[in-house]
Amino acid sequence: MTEIREVLARHGFGFKKQYGQNFLTDVNLLRAIVGDAGVDGTAAVLEIGAGAGALTRALAERAKRVVSFEIDRSLRPVLEETLAGVQNVELVFGDFARCDLAALEERLGRYFVVANLPYYITTPIVMRFVEHARLCAGMCVMVQEEVAARFAARPGTPDYGAVTAAIALRGRCEIVRKVPRTMFFPRPNVDSAVVRIVFEEDRLPVLSQSAYRAVVRAAFSARRKTLENDLMSAFSLPRASARELLLAAGIAEGVRGETLPPESFARLADELVRNKILS
Ligand code: SAM
Repeated sequence: MTEIREVLARHGFGFKKQYGQNFLTDVNLLRAIVGDAGVDGTAAVLEIGAGAGALTRALAERAKRVVSFEIDRSLRPVLEETLAGVQNVELVFGDFARCDLAALEERLGRYFVVANLPYYITTPIVMRFVEHARLCAGMCVMVQEEVAARFAARPGTPDYGAVTAAIALRGRCEIVRKVPRTMFFPRPNVDSAVVRIVFEEDRLPVLSQSAYRAVVRAAFSARRKTLENDLMSAFSLPRASARELLLAAGIAEGVRGETLPPESFARLADELVRNKILS
């Protein structure tokens, strides 16, 4: 889609590094991402970062409706041109981080998030949906390759961490596509990957999601400590109580949190709730 570059040049658009502006232009790749996301005509799509509108346009071809946020108001004339004649797109100029997600969800109904995310706020954006979204069916997002590896990591691997376990509470996460840096304009210094998270009702049933998150935070607060020590320091517990909780959750003595699957954190969080240590 060289015409996107032409439109940007004609409008004298200057790329702003601080907004993570690395645009996509390859139509085949854009359509493949829309396919990865499983967008169909029944659901709305929320995009964060319209950029020059290339992905927005590809999404509009398949989605019922697209709501797209863009922080950089200087892209307005560009988007007016690249999205001319596209009826089912609503552009919102502003910082997505400051929008009221609950109110937005009320307007969207069931929706998917599909975006080539600005790299500097990838994790906070994904965590916002993981922790607070109620009507989001799933996310299909382009992120830096090493961030993708963290999101979709297996227990016991170096990439496995608090973010992995937090995502696993709400959905299934997988890397669906690797995308080399050469596909972006301007070209970034790292490669990227498309990650798909499918949210599932009761994916990991827990008595309290906030207790689960607290346990996960504790388990990854110091990677070389045992989970027993993590519990003692995070929740001011004597060693005997920490041991009892682990035993009740079916977790062996002496293990480190980073080796445990999310299901173990769920059982442990439930034990902390049952024992009124967390609510
Ligand atoms: N979707 C376009 C594409 O694929 O070519 C642009 C993707 S670019 C990686 C990220 C876009 O997000 C940029 O246009 C940037 O200005 C925008 N952006 C950055 N921070 C944002 C924020 N907090 N809220 C909304 N948009 C933001």
